[in-house]
Amino acid sequence: MSELSYSEVYVISSELVTPHMRRITFGGPGLAGFRPLAPDQQVKLFFSRDGGRPEVPLPPPDGDKMRWYQSFMAVPEERRPWMRTYSVRRHLADRQQVEIDFVMHGENGGDGPASSWAAAARAGAMIGLLGPAISHFRTAEPGTSKLFVGDETALPAMAAWVESLPAGERAVVFAEVVDAREEQSWEPLADVTVNWVHRGDRPHGPDLLVEAVRAAELPPGPVFAWLAGEASTVRALRRHLVDERGLEKRSVAFTGYWRANMTQDEPPTAAELEDHADVLP
Ligand SMILES: Cc1cc2nc3c(=O)[nH]c(=O)nc-3n(C[C@H](O)[C@H](O)[C@H](O)COP(=O)(O)OP(=O)(O)OC[C@H]3O[C@@H](n4cnc5c(N)ncnc54)[C@H](O)[C@@H]3O)c2cc1C
Repeated sequence: MSELSYSEVYVISSELVTPHMRRITFGGPGLAGFRPLAPDQQVKLFFSRDGGRPEVPLPPPDGDKMRWYQSFMAVPEERRPWMRTYSVRRHLADRQQVEIDFVMHGENGGDGPASSWAAAARAGAMIGLLGPAISHFRTAEPGTSKLFVGDETALPAMAAWVESLPAGERAVVFAEVVDAREEQSWEPLADVTVNWVHRGDRPHGPDLLVEAVRAAELPPGPVFAWLAGEASTVRALRRHLVDERGLEKRSVAFTGYWRANMTQDEPPTAAELEDHADVLP
């Protein structure tokens, strides 16, 4: 299967992992060819505007992403599905299913098309899925300790990452969530310390995670850092690690997963384009 594989997927089950995290298990014949690429792999999900079948062009046989994107954008806006990016929490190869964890942000579970769809989705509901694709362009050198930092949107990818590390590896995680009820239990083989940072009533912003990481002693030896979450927080964390802690830029993988007060439909900001230019190999 090429990296650009599209299929319609169906809700098998939906359950709350924590009060603000809903896990949906998807199945469908198209997932028979799902080939995992990395622990933090992402998929594009397509939500139709009228609740029917999402109108998504099939990827070209040569896998040209730009050409596919142009044909997607050529679908008239009133029919073009909402496209949102999510991580694969778990691929259940034997059942041809994938689990995706949706943060229930906003009132009544969701204030965007993806989160509100997930809040209400029942068994049998259908959306489109394109992927998987790799989320981060930088990968860890063998023998490095791992540092993962992110908010609740990064939990599925961080969980999949730490559960993929072999015994003997060392990882430290800083995860920002609202409160203790949003903490999750993972099942790593590696030596993993998870530090939960509680936001409480405070708005999203870089301060809590940056302060937590600034106060932390990093594992000894070379460190590979993986950062994801709200874009301005990810930028501030990266600056701290590179400018203040002296990590090499190539040892820091980072992705802004969402933007405060902006939907995923809106084009990248100047700061994001600058980050993107910096991350390309
Ligand atoms: C590579 C990648 C992997 C991702 N993996 C996951 C994942 O596994 N699980 C997951 O839940 N999200 C994940 N995200 C983030 C997710 O794509 C965004 O949160 C997305 O904006 C949600 O779409 P929506 O339709 O619910 O809201 P949108 O229509 O995009 O936004 C509506 C409003 O909600 C706000 N908003 C969006 N997300 C949040 C949030 N988390 N908290 C508070 N306010 C928010 C926006 O600022 C906007 O004001 C990932 C993003 C990327 C790029």
